[in-house]
Amino acid sequence: MTEAKKNIVLKSHENIVKGAQDVREYRGLELTNGLRILLVSDPTTDQSAVALDVKVGSFMDPWEIPGLAHLCDHMLFMGTAKYPSENEYCKFLASHAGESNAYTGTDYANYHFDVQPEQLPGAIDRFVQFFLSPLFTESATEREVCAVDSEHKNILNNDSRRVKQVYRYRSKPGHDFGKFGTVPQRVVQFKHYVLLHRTYEFDAIENKKVTRKVWNDPPYGPEQLGKKVEPVPIKDSKWLSISFPFPDLDSEYKSQPGYYISHLIQHEAPGSLLSELKRRGWVSELESGYHTPASALLTEDPRSVETGPMS
Ligand SMILES: [Zn+2]
Repeated sequence: MTEAKKNIVLKSHENIVKGAQDVREYRGLELTNGLRILLVSDPTTDQSAVALDVKVGSFMDPWEIPGLAHLCDHMLFMGTAKYPSENEYCKFLASHAGESNAYTGTDYANYHFDVQPEQLPGAIDRFVQFFLSPLFTESATEREVCAVDSEHKNILNNDSRRVKQVYRYRSKPGHDFGKFGTVPQRVVQFKHYVLLHRTYEFDAIENKKVTRKVWNDPPYGPEQLGKKVEPVPIKDSKWLSISFPFPDLDSEYKSQPGYYISHLIQHEAPGSLLSELKRRGWVSELESGYHTPASALLTEDPRSVETGPMS
């Protein structure tokens, strides 16, 4: 490590816990600008890869501009000050056996790529510009609004997505959980997003000390609970979905209690819930899951327990 590089590393973590069969080497770094990095070395692989998480997602969309975080994820691919031509990054990766993608979640967006190892510096240089100087040109913005809109239209007929949105709409009025994830009608400067990007930029980037948003208010209160909703499906299928709000279990990540509960609910052995429901001819399958939709959101994924299709 050169002297210059040492200066940007606040802390280095060498003792990363890993599985007994894991031959890769790991190192954790905390940069002076607040960026946290996990380095993974695997000499047996023939590709290099990078993933970067930005703690901003659709929950931070302004209410009047649904889909803005998703649009921002598209726009970063459409030229930067250093590499102004659209999709320069994707073209570079494609010409060196690599590919990339990005997705916007509830309270995060993830950007990732892989490439031939010898091309990693060039790929990172292009990638980093996303978080330094995206152009957000007017013409590309118009086109990407259409792209986001068509992604939305593609899932309009997806029953599972539709039901998920019903759950969102049934949450407390004004709670971010009730927001919708696509289709922006107009675009304004999305300051929060851009500032957070800067905290995640590599060493040259100034830490703007933007506070990460968390949700301590559960999306469902007594008024919203104990309700039955019957959405009309597009496909000819019958599902029953029951959800139970849970306290946030993220701090219990080492023991994963949510997975024990869902494992027991969806167990298929004799004497299980599923075996009894099947014996009665009521269901053909049953799934259960625990999921936290956003940081410290004090509930689980509303689609926690599902049975179906029912006869
Ligand atoms: Zn998209």
